[in-house]
Amino acid sequence: MKSKDIEALVRPNIRKLCPYSTARDEYNGTLGVFLDANESPYPTGWNRYPDPRQTALREKLAHIKGVKAEKIFSGNGSDEAIDLIFRIFCIPGIDNAVAIAPSYGMYKVSAEINDIEMREVNLNEDFSLPVDNLLAACDSNTKVLFLCSPNNPSGNAFSNETVFEVLKRFNGIVVVDEAYIDFCSVPSLIGSIDRYPNLVVLQTFSKARGLAALRLGLAFSNPCIIKFMMMVKYPYNINASTQKLALKALESPIDIYVAETVAQRARIAAALPGFAFVRKVYPSEANFILVKVDDADGLYEHLIADGIIVRNRSKVAGCTGCLRITIGLPEENDKLLKSLCDYEKGDIRR
Ligand SMILES: *Cc1c(COP(=O)(O)O)cnc(C)c1O
Repeated sequence: MKSKDIEALVRPNIRKLCPYSTARDEYNGTLGVFLDANESPYPTGWNRYPDPRQTALREKLAHIKGVKAEKIFSGNGSDEAIDLIFRIFCIPGIDNAVAIAPSYGMYKVSAEINDIEMREVNLNEDFSLPVDNLLAACDSNTKVLFLCSPNNPSGNAFSNETVFEVLKRFNGIVVVDEAYIDFCSVPSLIGSIDRYPNLVVLQTFSKARGLAALRLGLAFSNPCIIKFMMMVKYPYNINASTQKLALKALESPIDIYVAETVAQRARIAAALPGFAFVRKVYPSEANFILVKVDDADGLYEHLIADGIIVRNRSKVAGCTGCLRITIGLPEENDKLLKSLCDYEKGDIRR
C-alpha cells in the first residue's frame, strides 16, 4: 500500500476538516506577554494552557526511539489513539473493523461507541495468528484491523514476519498494539512504519514505564496518519503535568525493573505447573501469565479472600478456565505462591 492510498481511506468529512487552531498553535514562543488565550495572568503554577502539540515530549521521544517527531502521536492513553483511529477511518453504521480474539477489550468497546461493527476472529488454539481467517473476515468496508503483540490476555507475541504478511495482504490500516513490548523478545515494529504506510504501532507509558496514572499513550505511523490524529484530537489532550512528568521520567532507565519482572515471570512460570490444579501455563512475553486451572472461579475467590486480586478471564472465548496473573514485586509473588500452596492443601479461605 502506498502513502497516497492512505489518504483515500480517510473519511471524507475528516479529509476536508479544518481543525480548531489554538492561540498557542499560532504563536508557540515562550517569552512574551500572553494576552491571547483568556487565561488568568495570576501564577498558580498551572494558569497557562499546555502545549497542544506536545513538542518537547515528542522531540524527546523522537530522539529516544529514533523516529521523527512528525511520525509520533501522544494521546490520553492508548485508548485515545484507538478511538481516533475509528473516528478518522471508519464511517459510523457503514464501515467495519476486524480484531483478534481474545484480546484487549477496548478495541470492541471503542468500535461500539463509534457505531462501527467489530468482527472478532478467534486466534488458533495455541493463540497463534490465523492470517487467512483474519483476511477472510475483511470486506471492502473493513478499514482497520487490530492486532496486539504481545497479546493481552494470552501473553504471546506474533513474529514480525506474520504481521508483515497481514500488512501486505490487507488494504487498510493495521494497528499493532505493543503495550507490553518492553517485556518481549520479539523486536518492536516501530522500525517498519516507513516500509508499511498502513501500519500504526501503539505503545504506552502505562505498563513497563510505570506511569499508568499519567494517562499517556503513543502511536507511531507515517506523517499522513499522524497529521490526521493531530487534527482530530482535542486541542489540549495531554495536560501540562503529564507532559512535564513524562519528560522527566524519560531521563530514568527502566531496564532494571523490566529485568526483574522478566525474572519473576520465569520464576512463576516455573512454579505454576507444580500445582495439581494447574492444567496449563501459557508462555508469556508480557508482564502477566495466563494460566488454566481446574476451577477458575473457585481459585479466584480463594485469592480474593487472601487479598490477592487477579483477572478472571474464564468466560472469555479461548480462555475457558483461565486466570490472568500480573507479575508483581518479588514479595507479592511470594504471597501469591504461598496462597496457591494453601489452596492446593485444601486450606481454602472462604
Ligand atoms: C494496558 C493496555 C494498554 C494501555 O492502555 P492505556 O490507555 O495507554 O493505559 C493498551 N493496550 C493493551 C493491549 C493493554 O493491555
